[in-house]
Amino acid sequence: MTDALKTGATIGILGGGQLGRMLAVAASRLGFRTHIYEPGAAAPAGDVAHHVTTAAYEDNDALFAFATSVDVITYEFENIPTHALDVLEEHKLIRPGREALRISQDRLTEKDFLSGLGLITADYADCPDAAALTEALERIGTPAILKTRRFGYDGKGQCRIAHVSEGSDAFAQMQGAPAILEGIVDFSAEISVIVARSPTGDVSAFDPGENVHEEGILRTTTVPARLSAAQRMDAVLLAGRIVNALDYVGVMGVELFVTRDGFVVNEIAPRVHNSGHWTQNGCAVDQFEQHIRAVAGWPLGDGTRHVDVVMQNLIGDDVAQVMDIATEPDAAIHLYGKTDVKPGRKMGHVNRVRQ
Ligand code: AMP
Repeated sequence: MTDALKTGATIGILGGGQLGRMLAVAASRLGFRTHIYEPGAAAPAGDVAHHVTTAAYEDNDALFAFATSVDVITYEFENIPTHALDVLEEHKLIRPGREALRISQDRLTEKDFLSGLGLITADYADCPDAAALTEALERIGTPAILKTRRFGYDGKGQCRIAHVSEGSDAFAQMQGAPAILEGIVDFSAEISVIVARSPTGDVSAFDPGENVHEEGILRTTTVPARLSAAQRMDAVLLAGRIVNALDYVGVMGVELFVTRDGFVVNEIAPRVHNSGHWTQNGCAVDQFEQHIRAVAGWPLGDGTRHVDVVMQNLIGDDVAQVMDIATEPDAAIHLYGKTDVKPGRKMGHVNRVRQ
């Protein structure tokens, strides 16, 4: 695909959760159709898309039919099985490209990539077996965190180690999954930069947001983050280096720890990101439209922040507060259409804006 997609073109989205849903809404505002591919039933994105394929990522026929029915393929999550990507890529362009997925699917590869760019990460060590973990604990010290290399999200697959003697218990908790040990970063704040890059190499970043997590799950993002002008610039340039190094196309979330010695990169997500939801009510062009523009080969839009915003996730029972929130001035509610309320489940979010 070299030309910009035109009205009526179809964007294929792998994954039918809330990120896919908000991508589909943004795509429809630009005159595109969307086709969601999602193994699970009752996908939140299915409510707002033109087509939904409900099939497994192992279903070659369904993958082929999906790929040949769309004009470009994008995704809302990074843990797409490699086999499915191989099948899809034979028939259609995938944006962002495979390299970003390969790197972000594995915490070890990701840390090696970031260090290779000269960026600072937490101290880390590959722990293929218990002996390697003991050695790593001796080198890195405690406290530390053992994390599965793959399939971790929202703090899942992680185990804090306060003392070397807890190493074997922690290793057992990984249940045989390959893991890495990370030193604990002494940070004063967590921020993220939502950055976009177009096929022609234009880069645009949203103002960094400050994130608060509870039990590994993002609770709030506040913009502006408490950063100096120089730190703000540094954070944005750092994110730009990452997307340029990958020849990236689309939106990426870059999570950073703020420390006395500068920024430490926690992780990168090759997709729209929960900490970028504030852009829906803070900018003329939000992260979802920016992503759709990039993958469709359009010029990037203006992501300048024009208000202060606090984004609050509505997790589990929080959603019961919606009718009260609905009476607040300056509160924009975004619900994902999920009917089953479960503890820890992201049901929606609210963006509270201040002029
Ligand atoms: P992750 O899934 O790796 O983003 O981790 C979830 C959250 O755990 C992060 O947002 C941090 O609050 C915390 N965390 C993860 N890794 C570290 C680390 N190496 N040092 C300190 N806190 C961490």
